[in-house]
Amino acid sequence: MSAKRDYYEVLGVPRGASEEEIKKTFRKLALKYHPDRNKDKGAEEKFKEINEAYQVLSDSSLRNKYDQFGHKGVSSQAGSGFEGFDNFAGFGDIFETFFGGFEGHQSGRRATRGASLQTSITIEFQDVVSGIEKQIEVIRSEGCGKCNGTRREPGTELRICASCNGQGRVRRASQGMFGQFVQVVACNACSGEGQVVSSPCKQCKGKGTERKKRRLAVTIPVGIENGTQLKLTGEGEVGMSGGRPGDLFVIVNVKEHPLFVRQGNDIKHTEIIDIAQASLGSKVLVATIDGEAELDIPSGIQSGQVIRLRDKGIPYLKNPKKRGSQLVEVVVETPRTLSKEQRKILQSFASTLKGHNEG
Ligand SMILES: [Zn+2]
Ligand SMILES: [Zn+2]
Repeated sequence: MSAKRDYYEVLGVPRGASEEEIKKTFRKLALKYHPDRNKDKGAEEKFKEINEAYQVLSDSSLRNKYDQFGHKGVSSQAGSGFEGFDNFAGFGDIFETFFGGFEGHQSGRRATRGASLQTSITIEFQDVVSGIEKQIEVIRSEGCGKCNGTRREPGTELRICASCNGQGRVRRASQGMFGQFVQVVACNACSGEGQVVSSPCKQCKGKGTERKKRRLAVTIPVGIENGTQLKLTGEGEVGMSGGRPGDLFVIVNVKEHPLFVRQGNDIKHTEIIDIAQASLGSKVLVATIDGEAELDIPSGIQSGQVIRLRDKGIPYLKNPKKRGSQLVEVVVETPRTLSKEQRKILQSFASTLKGHNEG
């Protein structure tokens, strides 16, 4: 790890800077380097450094220790809380934390979360059993690829807002019920940021975002049910002013199968057999979602009886190694027409039945 820079140097303030001065400087730097807003290389590092310096210099006791002993004096305090950048608040949050109550009025653009999007895909019945990765296309707004969402032409600087002189706030006199009063409000020209874009990005016309068509891979878990909504966190529209992006919801529709009907984790299937197979018993090949399988028909089976084929059903979503069964409903079909010979045989068979009245 390289040696730490002096905290005063990081913020660019003199050693005798007032609390007010430190806050103001930090605010400006934070606006400039917050990684949610500034996608330049090194901005995140820079922001961390600025933030760390601010944590120490804004706390009078830490600042005292730092003045006396340097980094050593505050290392334990300063070290904690700065590591996990992922846990760091979005720009809007940090803005609230550090400046929200400060001087008692609203300032700055509010971070807005990006909108969530919804789309749907259709998969085959088979895909529920085997799982599949699907490509989807989504049109969404993203940070502009040219200016990285900074809204300005690369290489150009922000300009101090002339309307508020970089304060982000303006005094507004209004006529109230009890006479004139002065209100301090966020500057309109710069949305309270104190700085404005001098040359708007030509690609996005200064919006900082652009519509993009994206292909995304969606992994469909085995065992998924028809109509399930999958959530792709952060794949929605880009947030504004450092707000988090929205999510993308993908509704998964499962096509019907010509032979199989899902019933929980079981698959229902109907198998038609003839009266001889039903009476004598037989082995038949039945279709399963894994291909053909041999089914043992016991002799004397009745129409409507169900035979269970274990582990030929739908995998469990939470435990894909476990599968339901295929439930084969056996339907015994009576012959619709008989040849002369068949009729004779059946008649003689019938004559053997107890209580049978020959017609
Ligand atoms: Zn742009
Ligand atoms: Zn302004």
